[in-house]
Amino acid sequence: MQTAGLPVGIVRGEGAVLFDEDGKEYIDAISSWWVNLYGHAHPHIAQKIAEQLNKLEHVIFAGFTHEPAVELAERLIMLLPDNQKKVFYSDNGSTAIEVAIKMCLQYWHNQGQPRTKMLAFKNAYHGDTFGAMAVSGRSAFTAAFDNLLFEVEFIDLPTKENIQDLKSKVSNLSSGLACFIFEPLVQGSAGMIMYEAEWLDELLKHCKQEHVLTIDDEVFTGFGRTGKPFACNYITEQPDIMCFSKGLTGGTMALGVTTCTSQIYDMFLSDDRMKTLFHGHSFTANPIACTAALASMDLFTSEETPANIQRIIVQHQQFKLQVENHPKVRTIRQTGTIIALEWETGNSTSYLSPLRDRLYHYFLDAGIILRPLGNIIYILPPYCISNEQLAYIYSKIIDALNEI
Ligand SMILES: *Cc1c(COP(=O)(O)O)cnc(C)c1O
Repeated sequence: MQTAGLPVGIVRGEGAVLFDEDGKEYIDAISSWWVNLYGHAHPHIAQKIAEQLNKLEHVIFAGFTHEPAVELAERLIMLLPDNQKKVFYSDNGSTAIEVAIKMCLQYWHNQGQPRTKMLAFKNAYHGDTFGAMAVSGRSAFTAAFDNLLFEVEFIDLPTKENIQDLKSKVSNLSSGLACFIFEPLVQGSAGMIMYEAEWLDELLKHCKQEHVLTIDDEVFTGFGRTGKPFACNYITEQPDIMCFSKGLTGGTMALGVTTCTSQIYDMFLSDDRMKTLFHGHSFTANPIACTAALASMDLFTSEETPANIQRIIVQHQQFKLQVENHPKVRTIRQTGTIIALEWETGNSTSYLSPLRDRLYHYFLDAGIILRPLGNIIYILPPYCISNEQLAYIYSKIIDALNEI
């Protein structure tokens, strides 16, 4: 708080634009931390929520159920890979991950063959609660807690060159490995680091062979971000468990979902109460949040959404061609609607680098919310953003490349 600038007071949002107290407009080029998919204060989502608020705002989700939760589970399962059969609700992305980890650990515990070690990628980010932090890369964010985090084996992202090594590593560890957790195709917090589906697929096939459960963290990549509905649609081997949040409600409110296969579900189905997955939050499956997700799903499955996603992909591709040879551009990479540009700094690349603050304020002054990760600028717009708004963002990035 001592060094942070004053926050900007936002009073209203419409489409890709936010308005502050003085009426200044900002294009939300990062979808308010990657959550917003169809624009702010979307009228369809707002109306559905208002109707639901007048019917049922909340009810205990133990021993009771309600239509929005049931319908959301059914519609979600229809969209996911065939092997995903069961839905578990929680409150946000981190809790969706906690639930996934607990499912895996208890899957082995319930069989009387405890496995406690986990496998994750270096530089991973899976959330800020303790289990989620443990399976995330060690960094400035975790430093104060590192010696309290449980044991995780970290491996490099898979490539053509290292895939054999990674497979042997999995084989060597396999009898003790409860699960492998991964961000598919794009590691968001690490700096929009991208890797190829082919090698992920191969690694997942190997995990399956070695009976290591796999957790696909689609909290960020879900619902069209990577160009397909889910990042796992780029691979053939399907994960055992999937996690969702962020875009799940179109960015309207917090909700977490963890889905799993029947194989995992069946390991908890028993007369023995000790085999229960004891996990519940006060607001589990909140009807308003489920309704927001259902309304969001109406928009996701409309014709307009894939067309908008394709449109953004093409705009990004053209921008990439335009700037990739600029001397200040170290690299520029794209997966679907996500484009990330690494600034040539000569030396420092840390998240806390001073360049980051300069760039942040440069764009804020220009009426664009971009939040660089160190020297990496990324654009991750709501799908409703117009070509004109995108062109304005691209032009300001080019100005910044020339001026800063
Ligand atoms: C944001 C994020 C999370 C955590 O979600 P929260 O809702 O912020 O707790 C987990 N995994 C990934 C890949 C994320 O991007």
